[in-house]
Amino acid sequence: MSEPSSAPQTPPSRQLSPNPFIVAAFLLVIGLIGFGGYRASEYQGMQTLRTDAGHRLDLFAAAVDGIVNRYAHIPATIQLNEEVLNVMHKPRSAASVLAANRFLQRLNGHIGSIAIFVVDERGIVLASSNWDHPDDSFIGEDLSFRSYYLDGLAGRVGRHFAIGITRSEPGYFVSHPIRDGERVVGVAVIKISLGQLDKAWELLGAPALIADGNGVVILSSVPEWRYTALNPLPLDTLVDIKMSRLYNDGLIGDFPVRIDEAMGPEGQIVHMNLRQHPPRSRQDIAGSYLVHGRPLTELGWRLQIFSDLRPVRAQAFGHAALASVATGFVLLLLLVVAQRRRIIGQKLEAKTLLEQANAQLESKVARRTKALTDTNARLRKEVTERLQAEQTLRAAQDELVQAAKLAVLGQLAAGITHELAQPLGAMRTLSGNAIEFMKRGNLPTVEQNLGIIARLADQMGRIITPLKTFARKSPAIPAPADLAHAVGAALFLLDQRLAKADITVINRCEAGRDIAWCDQNRLEQVLINLIRNAADAMADAAHRELLIEAGPGEAGNIELSIADSGSGLPENGQLFEPFFTTKPAGEGLGLGLAISRDIVREFGGDLRAENRPAGGARFILQLPAAPKEKP
Ligand code: ADP
Repeated sequence: MSEPSSAPQTPPSRQLSPNPFIVAAFLLVIGLIGFGGYRASEYQGMQTLRTDAGHRLDLFAAAVDGIVNRYAHIPATIQLNEEVLNVMHKPRSAASVLAANRFLQRLNGHIGSIAIFVVDERGIVLASSNWDHPDDSFIGEDLSFRSYYLDGLAGRVGRHFAIGITRSEPGYFVSHPIRDGERVVGVAVIKISLGQLDKAWELLGAPALIADGNGVVILSSVPEWRYTALNPLPLDTLVDIKMSRLYNDGLIGDFPVRIDEAMGPEGQIVHMNLRQHPPRSRQDIAGSYLVHGRPLTELGWRLQIFSDLRPVRAQAFGHAALASVATGFVLLLLLVVAQRRRIIGQKLEAKTLLEQANAQLESKVARRTKALTDTNARLRKEVTERLQAEQTLRAAQDELVQAAKLAVLGQLAAGITHELAQPLGAMRTLSGNAIEFMKRGNLPTVEQNLGIIARLADQMGRIITPLKTFARKSPAIPAPADLAHAVGAALFLLDQRLAKADITVINRCEAGRDIAWCDQNRLEQVLINLIRNAADAMADAAHRELLIEAGPGEAGNIELSIADSGSGLPENGQLFEPFFTTKPAGEGLGLGLAISRDIVREFGGDLRAENRPAGGARFILQLPAAPKEKP
């Protein structure tokens, strides 16, 4: 019966050691998310920064516009003034000059500009609001090199930033032609202070600058940036600047970084470095900035604001870190969930395998149990049959033993009859004599005869008793049996026969010395068999001697040897086979030895035969010794 292999296969335990590829992928994803988060946050921050800066720029532009344009119309109105027109016509008249000066002084004092003055066609200052300032009065100054003069003379409104020549005070100049009819006779100019703007920088809350039409920084919240060119100036511009002394002959430096004047609304990112800006207590402008600006169209200027990118980047970094941590957490969570699912899967798999193995085992056990039950039933049946057979055999054997016994008895009958005949004859004679003596009244002789008769009857009884015992059909029950006793009984029964055959019996057994564990009756039967066979074998021998010895044998057994001086064992004879005999028909059945060996083996002993070196055969009976403690 072939059984399917049913060994349960447990899945290999998977270690929870981190897979380097998964770790690398995790780190990559975390890095990408962090980077993406950084960029998104930075973008968002910059957008906010732009919007915010845009608002501030608008606010500042409005402030600049307010400060500058509030007085821009003043020069146009000056030509309407009588005193001014007078001085244009009579420049040498001290009275008209004074009147004009006083008018301009009043007007200037009223509106709060730096100065208001008029120049003639040649560019010489005729009257000025600061006429009475002994050190820095404009009166008599030749301003023909100034652009605002040239513009005014050309009939246009002139306006630009410039640094004052007398006090080097920066200001915004607005000029307007003074006409007498169609002819331009002079130019009226107002110089507006830009000092108020310094306070307005606060509105921006970040470094900022204003560059004029030449790209030169004229105003800035960072003093170092003032009078620097955002980009290298072309030669003709430099010549113009020189000619018009816009920046009062001061050197125009380079702005720390290049600013793209054509930048779009998204602005430009620049990196400032500390070396270009000595440390100052007010603000530290090293770092990255988002620059963007807007034109102040009417003034021809450009306003630039520098928004610090550090807070944006710090925030972006914070967001990136947060995104990375959150991603890491989510990934870990996913990993844990995946791991858990895998473990549950493994457990289910193992459970299924276990159930399968269990089912296989159960069916196997059921099959085996059935096979065992069948075998058991068969064995029981066989045992019963065997027991029955054994019983039958034992019964047959007992019958056989009994039959053999009776056969022996039959053969002994002649001898026994002879034994009994003699005392019987004597008894008859003695009883006849007793009757005669009684008639004669010789009672003492009668008594003597009757005594002899009684003794003879006892003798006859002693002859018959062993026969009765031998003939008894008794079951074989092992018990301590004295070998000398059994040998004695056998010899007694065969006594006649042995004597008749003239056989010398040497019996070396001693009573009470060799006690075997067997059935006395059966043992006697075996001995009678062996002694009879010996006697038969010595029938034709010249010297007839039967030697019986007993003593301890191998392995705690007791051995009894019956040796004769007869013909010896037949060659190739299967002595112990049933029905083997060399005796003529009617004398031997060939069962004696077979039954004898059977009887002896039943008690755990054995029977073997051998030829004696000096001639004759020896039968050795081996029997277990009776246990010492048994009675
Ligand atoms: P049976 O006596 O009826 O022949 P046994 O089984 O007793 O049957 O003996 C079988 C045979 O063994 C005898 O016929 C005889 O040939 C042989 N045999 C037995 N005892 C002796 C002996 N002492 N010497 C020689 N031969 C023997």
